[in-house]
Parts: sequence; C-alpha cells; structure tokens
Amino acid sequence: MTTRLSLEDDVRYIKGVGPKKAQILRDVGVSTARDLLDYFPFRIEDFSRVTSIDNVRPGDDVTVQGRVVSVGFVESLRGKALRVGITDGRGIMYLVWYNMPYLYKKFSRGQWVLASGRAEWRRNSIEMAHPIWKESPGAVEVGPIIPVYHGKASLTSSAIHAIISSALSRYGGLIEETLPSTLRERYGLLPEREAYRQIHAPQSPLLWDRARKTFAFREVLHLQIALSLMKKESKALSAGIPFHDLTLPTRFLETLPFRLTRAQARVISEIREEVSAGKAMNRLVQGDVGSGKTVVAMWSLLAAVSSGYQGAFLVPTEVLARQHKRTFERLAGGLTRIGLLVGSLSSREKQKLLEGIASGDIHTVVGTHALLEPEVKWYRLGLVVTDEQHRFGVRQRLTIPEKAGELRPHILVMSATPIPRSLALTLYGDLDISVIDELPEGRKTVTTRVLGSGERAVAYRKVREEVQKGHQAYVVCPLIREGKTGRKAAEMVFEELKDGYLKGLRLGLIHGELSKDALDEEMKRFVEGKTDVLISTTVIEVGVDVENATCMVIEDADSFGLATLHQLRGRVGRGDAPSYCYLIASSAGATSCERLRALERLHDGFSVAELDLEQRGPGQFFGTKQHGLPEIKVQELGITAEIIVKAREEAERILRCLENGDAGCCDAEYSALLEKVRQRFGDLTMYARSR
Ligand code: ADP
Ligand code: MG
Repeated sequence: MTTRLSLEDDVRYIKGVGPKKAQILRDVGVSTARDLLDYFPFRIEDFSRVTSIDNVRPGDDVTVQGRVVSVGFVESLRGKALRVGITDGRGIMYLVWYNMPYLYKKFSRGQWVLASGRAEWRRNSIEMAHPIWKESPGAVEVGPIIPVYHGKASLTSSAIHAIISSALSRYGGLIEETLPSTLRERYGLLPEREAYRQIHAPQSPLLWDRARKTFAFREVLHLQIALSLMKKESKALSAGIPFHDLTLPTRFLETLPFRLTRAQARVISEIREEVSAGKAMNRLVQGDVGSGKTVVAMWSLLAAVSSGYQGAFLVPTEVLARQHKRTFERLAGGLTRIGLLVGSLSSREKQKLLEGIASGDIHTVVGTHALLEPEVKWYRLGLVVTDEQHRFGVRQRLTIPEKAGELRPHILVMSATPIPRSLALTLYGDLDISVIDELPEGRKTVTTRVLGSGERAVAYRKVREEVQKGHQAYVVCPLIREGKTGRKAAEMVFEELKDGYLKGLRLGLIHGELSKDALDEEMKRFVEGKTDVLISTTVIEVGVDVENATCMVIEDADSFGLATLHQLRGRVGRGDAPSYCYLIASSAGATSCERLRALERLHDGFSVAELDLEQRGPGQFFGTKQHGLPEIKVQELGITAEIIVKAREEAERILRCLENGDAGCCDAEYSALLEKVRQRFGDLTMYARSR
C-alpha cells in the first residue's frame, strides 16, 4: 500500500517522533506535519562566528569550539553538575549542566564540540551553563546557525530541531506557495517554501530575518483576511433580531441622574440604528475607564427586554457582577427583573434562577462565566453584552447556546483597554467598533506621581490627609502573599500599614483567594464607607466604582504594564474631588522610573496605549485571549506594528480587488490565498456562517 504524503499527516509518523514525543508535541499544539513546520524558533544561535576561548570574558554571549579534555561531575548547590572541559588550544572552558546526568554519555575525550551561551566566572574558571551545543567533526572556520525552539519536558530545543529537519526534508516540497508575488516583491519577502527552509535551517542570519519577516507578514495577512471574511459573512447571512420597542431604555435615560456625554449618546445611537433595523450586531465599544460604558450596556440590555427578549451581561469577576447588579437595581430597578448568576450560588439558589431564566421570568442576567455553561437554558436571548472583554476569548464569549430556528443574539463587547487604532482594526477585524472618547463632565484628571521605595511616606501621608477629609483610598499590590521575588504582598502590606503609616484608620483587605462571602463583605463595607482604605490585589482592576475614593497607592508599580496601571488609576477620580495616584517603584532602576513617569503626563488611555506600543511592541495587545483565533506568533516572529499596518492594508486591497474583479489584479494568486485562509481558519468562517 502506498500512502500519499500530506501536510495533515499526524506527527507520530514523522521520523524521530515516538508516542511519547507525539504526546508532548500535541501538548504544545502540534499534531500534524504542518503544525510542526509552523513551530517556529524564537531565536538563532549563530555558530558562524566563533570566538577563541582566551578572548572570552564573563558575561559575554559567545560561541566557542574545542576538543573535550575532561568529563566529570561536581556537587553544587543547584544539584549534581556535569562539567565538561574543552580547549581550542588557546584556553580552557567548562560546559556545565545541572541535574542532567544522562548527558554524560554524549561526551568523550578528544571529541570536538561547538557551544554557545553566556560565559560566567565560577569555580575559578570560565564556565558556560546549559549551552546550546553541537558535535563537530573538527575545528571549523564557520559553524552552522542553529535555530532555538521553546522546548517542553524531555523535548529539548535540539530534539525539536531534529524532528523538524526530518519533517522539512520529507514534507517541504508540499508547502503551498500562497503569498502573492506582488507582496513578495514589495516587501522583500521569501517564497514560502524557501522561508520554511530559512527559518528552520538558516544559511545566514540575514536570511533567517527575512524568513521571519515573511511569516510575520503572512500571519497578519491571514488573520486579517479571516476576520474580514467572518465579518462579511456574518453580516450577509444572518439577519439580527429587531428591537422594535424602546420604551424601557427611553424611560431609563429620562430617570438617569446625569446627562449622557456626547460620546455616550453617539454610541447609543449607533447601537440603536443597528438593532432596530434588524441587523445582526457584532460591536465593540471601546472607552477609557470611567467613560461610562455601563450605561451604554444597560441601555442595550433594556432595549432587548423592552422588545420581549432577554439580555445577558457577562463579566469577568464576581465582584464586578455584584456591582453591576446593584447599579442596575439602582438605576433601572423598576424596569426589568434582574438575576445574578455566579459560581458561588447555592445549588438551590441556582436552580431557582435557572428556572427563571428558562421560563423567561427573569429578563436580565448579570453573571460570570457561569453564564456560559450549557445548563443555562434561555427562554429568548436577544443580546449578550460582555464587559471587560480583554478578560475573555472570542470563542468563549460566543459559546452561549443558540436555539435552532431562532436568530442569534446581538453581541456587544466592552473594553477599557484602549488599543492603538492601527492595531484595533486587525485585532477586532470581525467587529464594528464604537469609541467613547470623552469622559463625563467635571471628571478631573488623576494627579499622578512616581515615587522611589524610600519615599513611600509621602504617599501614605496623602492617604491620611484624604481620609481626614472624609474620602477613601486604595492600596494595590501585585501578589497575594510574599513571593520569591520579594514583591509586596497585599497581606503583608496590610499588616505593615495597620501598625505603621495608616495606624488608626479603618483598613480592609481583599484578594482573589478570599471566600465569596468574605470578599463580598469587605467590598460592601468599602462601598458603604465603613472602611477608609482598601488594600487589595488587582481584583479591583475591573470596573469597581466608588466615587468617594480619591487616592490610590500602587506598590511595586514597575511590575505592571502601563496600560494596567492606567486602568487601576481609573478607579479613583470618579467623583468631583481632586484625586491622586502614587506609583511606588520597587527597583531603583532609572529606566523603570522613567517608564512610569509617562503616566504623570499622559491621562488618556489611547495615548498610554500608543506609548506602550512604542515601548514594548504589539505583542502585549495580541495575546491569544484577545481574539481567540489560532495563535498568531507575535513574539516568536517579532511582528512589529509596521508589519501589522502594512499587512492589513494589503489584506484590504486584496479583498477589494477580488470583490470588484479589478482588471490587472493577480486574480489567480489572490484566490489561492483566500482558499488557503479558508482552509486554515475554516472552523472560524464556518462558525460565522452558522450563526
Ligand atoms: P466604565 O466605562 O469604566 O465602565 P462606568 O460605566 O463604571 O465606567 O462609569 C463610571 C462612573 O461614571 C459611574 O459612577 C457612572 O455612574 C458615571 N457616569 C456614567 N456616565 C455619566 C455621565 N454621562 N455623566 C456623569 N456621570 C456618568
Ligand atoms: Mg466598566
């Protein structure tokens, strides 16, 4: 029997892959030959430049070569260490592996090796711990360039490399060429087949870079095309539920204790236009913390209820679910029957609620991911609002079951993570985007100051002052308990402040490990003004809203990203009083302070996001969680903002071209590309079709 090779072949048929390795590979998301070829190295070891051992200084990242002169073990604090001495005739260096005794048999005297890694001064010699290494037939002029992969368990980088090499020689010829030649020429990209060779077996560092750029471009191009297709198909194929009756949301606005900002009014009218026309809504509302997204969510949920449908309000934490329910009851209590579905309900409470949802007795349900469980049967679900979308994945938020024969619910997602516009169009390419780019009137900017850890007194003096004025404050810490890194833990800070800077004040403590009751109780006490200062981990990050809180101290602020800090800071400055935020930098490093200082100047989330993009690249905005699509290897491939923008433009151009049947566009190539994208993201576009 002859079997035809296919890129979809199971990895276990590839030479060098036994059942055990196949399992590990599956654990890292590799199950076919194609997946294997798409398992990209994140850097290369360049053995093409070999340093002579006598020129190596501790701290250098170098490649050396030498003949093995000794192989033995030494005891060390880190465990038993294999120590292999090598010489190139000009110096001696030791290669060291801790707790990997089985490597012993790989070395024998006289054998030549190339080794690459960081040199250190230990045990009175130059050592290199856990180097990347390779046997070589003898002294070489120019060594190979070896790609380095993320390994897992016994599957080391070099084992992966070996497997991929054999996959490449067997399957390399099957790789489709779907990158249009126009793009290759315009951006200096390689043909795909060549790119696979150069990324896994580079002939030069320069070619490796070009291969990476090729894949970076391809990934974004594919993603963008897939998202555009999803958007188009879901628009074309699914009519939405028309919300005809807007009595309730109108009454809600009339009784609201404030006037909508222009931006809120605009976004509400965008939503109204879509839902009342019976178009299927798939919309992202982006707005800085405090811009008033909840009101927009409530308006929309009431529009569903008013028209005889149910609304689901999905939030990432129980604290937030409870808060939203309270807000709902305060502002629209008489208008809709509201249920709260969270994991910690007793089974009787839950049963009752589920019955209410199934019978349609309960109109609006606020809840955590418990809302997504299959046991929740809706009577007539018309709208799903997801708050703080960045905490969920797309797939997850869409698993709310639909009843056969009924129109699918509208989808509205809210995000307080401002994404630079250039990225939002890619990241959320399947959604329409509404932006609330204005804060309610009278909102003051939060005066922000960066302090060294020696200046904490300044911050806590302010906290006391604010409390004396009748206000409240937050203290935020990165971890719950003292971790190995020495970061301040909420519990420790609490103990310290109680008898120190904040002695005599009423302090509360919350973190994610508290029981639901304890957490609830603490939160309630703070909301009711019964505690002055709430010490917490980032559980307060999402959406907690206490107007009387005017001061925030963030310990170890340099362990957070700027965007997170900005979101945390948004918890204060919600009322009329001036507000303050102190960022305590734990490391004295000037660069980390400098990075934080940007927040002293910048007060809107979009500027903070742009800066984050500039400083740390687009990776942070592209977590898989954000879009829920098959992983895009932003970090491994070094995808830059520029590539994202360019690839998006090209994707749009290609789709336009195909749609209009423009003369002179490379029709055949573009159709092949489209086909390829459908193949790759098939489940997604199918999903778009089915909904
Ligand atoms: P976020 O966008 O961060 O979710 P919220 O919806 O929690 O913000 O709103 C923050 C605060 O601003 C809440 O106390 C809310 O009642 C208030 N608020 C919302 N819209 C307005 C408005 N138009 N005028 C005044 N206050 C508003
Ligand atoms: Mg909110």
